[in-house]
Amino acid sequence: MNTLNTKQSLALYEEALQYFPGGVNSPVRAFRSVHGKPLFIERGEGCEIWDADGNKFIDFCCSWGPLILGHNPPTVKQKIQEALDKGTSFGAPTRYGNALAKLILDNNQYIDKLRFVNSGTEAVMSAVRLARGATGRNKVIKFEGCYHGHVDHLLVKAGSGLATFGVSDSAGVPASFAQETIVLPLNDRTALTQAFETYKDDIAAIIVEPIPANNGLLLQERSFLECLRLKCHQNGTLLIFDEVISGFRVGFEGAAAHYDIKPDIITYGKIIGGGMPVGAYGASAEIMGHIAPDGPVYQAGTLSANPVAMAAGLAQLERCLEEGFYENLEAKTKQIVKSVNDFCLEKGYPVQLFSIASIFWIAFTKEEAVRSADAIDGDKMQYFKALHQHLLAKGIYVGPSGYEVCFVSAAHHEEAIAYAIEAFCTSLELVFG
Ligand SMILES: *Cc1c(COP(=O)(O)O)cnc(C)c1O
Repeated sequence: MNTLNTKQSLALYEEALQYFPGGVNSPVRAFRSVHGKPLFIERGEGCEIWDADGNKFIDFCCSWGPLILGHNPPTVKQKIQEALDKGTSFGAPTRYGNALAKLILDNNQYIDKLRFVNSGTEAVMSAVRLARGATGRNKVIKFEGCYHGHVDHLLVKAGSGLATFGVSDSAGVPASFAQETIVLPLNDRTALTQAFETYKDDIAAIIVEPIPANNGLLLQERSFLECLRLKCHQNGTLLIFDEVISGFRVGFEGAAAHYDIKPDIITYGKIIGGGMPVGAYGASAEIMGHIAPDGPVYQAGTLSANPVAMAAGLAQLERCLEEGFYENLEAKTKQIVKSVNDFCLEKGYPVQLFSIASIFWIAFTKEEAVRSADAIDGDKMQYFKALHQHLLAKGIYVGPSGYEVCFVSAAHHEEAIAYAIEAFCTSLELVFG
């Protein structure tokens, strides 16, 4: 198989190893779960990126989701430049924050007010604090297979038993923190009912990725999400939809609108910042009234609602509101999914793509659906390792882990889609043929 020339990337990686743990600033970037060493990316334009050695790739990682318009879209660049000309940060309110908030709130029936922060992790951390502050309760239910950023008490996995206290999934998280988290399997109503029977009056919130897309794409049935909604109502518990990926991705109003279920608090990130570091959490005016300075739940940020970042988000979200924007993305995604799935079916390969809107995931299974973390066979990820290498060699960049999903952007044009389909099929053939 033809391998890439990665001399420059390798040299940069060697250098980075002296500066950063594992040579990276976020673990997945280290390529540890695939063959090879990380590629250093030099620039991006549209649906393509170029690495430090000049290799060109069609990009389906899209910065892990934020770049729904693709790389370096002119409208976003222009708006950033406009804001940049006025200064980068003031630590005071600016009209850009208002403009982005207005655009979001005018087009979202699920929240009345929001607060901008600097990352998805911060949004989740603040949303959980808000839920605890608003309910006066401590415990939080989360689901195995949902990722909510690197918040201490959410970096937990299930212990033994069905309805169980979490066990820390990272060193440095006190057991006492993890014990405030109840970890349940997705798609399991019995475990949910049991948890509410056991911890009834101390459950502040259920937090869920309504479209779990950080550990494969574990699409849930609407009825399960509805069940969460109902349980929360019945028990005075707040329902938090973590829409850091799904927000502005499966539609402008995210998964809440996709399933037509109104959570109590929603977190956003990724797309909301137009490629700049922005997160947000929002809720009804009443619930947001608990946040300082109106209420007693403290939450702040030196660079929150940074005007340059707000400008980027504004330019990107304006485009998302254009007629047919999401339909177009979905059509392109379906084209990839259908072509590759037809090919695999015909060849009898144990592979299929699952998708929703412009998200797709390469799953090594013939099962009709994969709805929980334990339904993924970790041993099959060896196939992804091989596939990843073949894809890179053919100029296709996907996230360097088989548990990660792929994203289609507005910049993925017909020709790129056609090329990608061909590359996926021939790469799969090299792995399974
Ligand atoms: C990416 C992500 C986060 C974390 O966001 P960061 O900006 O990486 O801190 C949280 N929740 C979900 C659902 C995400 O996809």
